[in-house]
Amino acid sequence: MSLVKLSLQELQRLFTCGEISAFEIARAYLLRINQVEPKIKAYITLTPKDQLLAQAEALDRSLKAWRKTEPMMAMPLAIKDNICTEGVRTTCGSIMLEHFVPPYDAAVVEPLRQQRFFLLGKTNLDEFAMGSSSEHSAFGPTKNPWKLTHSPGGSSGGSAAAVAADECVAALGSDTGGSIRLPAAACGVVGLKPTYGRVSRYGLVAFASSLDQIGPITKTVTDAAILLNVLAKHDPRDSTSATVPVPDFTKSTKRKDLKKLKVGIPQEFFTDGLDTEVERTVREAIAELERLGAQLCDISLPMTEHAIAAYYLIATAEASSNLARYDGVKYGFRSKETRDLLDMYCQTRAQGFGPEVKRRIMLGTYALSAGYYEAYYGKAQAVRTLIRQDFDAAFQEVDLIATPVMPTPAFPLGEKLKDPLQMYLLDMYTIPASLAGLPAIAVPCGFSSAGLPIGLQIMGRPFEEPLVLRAASAYEQATNWRKKRPVIR
Ligand code: GLN
Repeated sequence: MSLVKLSLQELQRLFTCGEISAFEIARAYLLRINQVEPKIKAYITLTPKDQLLAQAEALDRSLKAWRKTEPMMAMPLAIKDNICTEGVRTTCGSIMLEHFVPPYDAAVVEPLRQQRFFLLGKTNLDEFAMGSSSEHSAFGPTKNPWKLTHSPGGSSGGSAAAVAADECVAALGSDTGGSIRLPAAACGVVGLKPTYGRVSRYGLVAFASSLDQIGPITKTVTDAAILLNVLAKHDPRDSTSATVPVPDFTKSTKRKDLKKLKVGIPQEFFTDGLDTEVERTVREAIAELERLGAQLCDISLPMTEHAIAAYYLIATAEASSNLARYDGVKYGFRSKETRDLLDMYCQTRAQGFGPEVKRRIMLGTYALSAGYYEAYYGKAQAVRTLIRQDFDAAFQEVDLIATPVMPTPAFPLGEKLKDPLQMYLLDMYTIPASLAGLPAIAVPCGFSSAGLPIGLQIMGRPFEEPLVLRAASAYEQATNWRKKRPVIR
């Protein structure tokens, strides 16, 4: 079996026992990227070949004397290009940051570097993570490895496509309203959005600060748990970082049953707009949860109907404030030949941002403007509280909630680009967990008749990632979806 097909867990095992070298890992992935990257375009920036091979050789040499390995040592990972990497440009898929090289690492990158991981490259995304298709990238879209004419989903489409196409063993993404789960579902891989506060956002370029979370995109549920073990940590540099205990997440992926667990099925997630094939596939997956021992309960989350409206007020308002810093003064793009200071600001922002980002800044600025704050942002936050209360009530009855991830399978590139509302509606099943700050995972659960992957979403109570991982892992092991891989041509 080719090295690049292995999961993180399998690769770790072979490396730890000395069966394969860091050099072999690096070379295998370089070869794979060389083969398929021209078709997929998952990366914005690739680590130069010589640099990676030199790093691998140095690692092998240092290991000869004593073979003590760290979990991420020599693991070839990709990182979404809105997560700061010291000395490696971090563009956010935007002209605004096209040449921005961060002087420091994001909190999530620090432990990876300490453990001597391999950064294969920085992955494509919708500009500033705003979008659901990866088409709003200043560097062009990423292609879905299952069908190159289709979108890989977004905004972490580069990360999900890279994992699906074996261009990395696992990747980091960010999720504000679904950007880890949505592309994971569209590309047939696993995506975990941890509880808000579980993983530090220090060094994540801010989009909507009350929603942003970093999480793993992987080939298996166990791999997501392995990565979460490295990422989850209290960090005083992120004031929303939680001071909760961090368990060993891999423990919960070992059980194979769902006995004594109650799983809620919210009726509001199976209504208009849900593709019939997706509905059938997800319902079959839910039946499998029952066969594994879970007790199914019909539940209602009535306020989730307003989730998209609330999200697109909150996210745009926070984005308009977060993106005010890109004014051409301290860093990032600056327009040339401008008349005066005001003209410099205007030209810089007019030329540096793409249309979707501008749309969000305008919507958000309007929602926050004097006299409207209470009517829009304030109201949306009130609705958000009601949504959270719906979940609180449901979680009195059930332990987990199972739903679709995306209302349709992956769609053709260009199909939704002209109609922002159609694009926003893709987030209808992922946004509720984002607004409520809950942990949620996307796990592959089948294919459409056109051969495109479909995902199952499992949500849990805050900080109950262990339970979410346990259910997803039991489901994954009971089914064979992970064995089917895309053939890229
Ligand atoms: N698609 C959503 C949006 O466009 C979510 C993006 C995200 O989670 N980063 O805002």
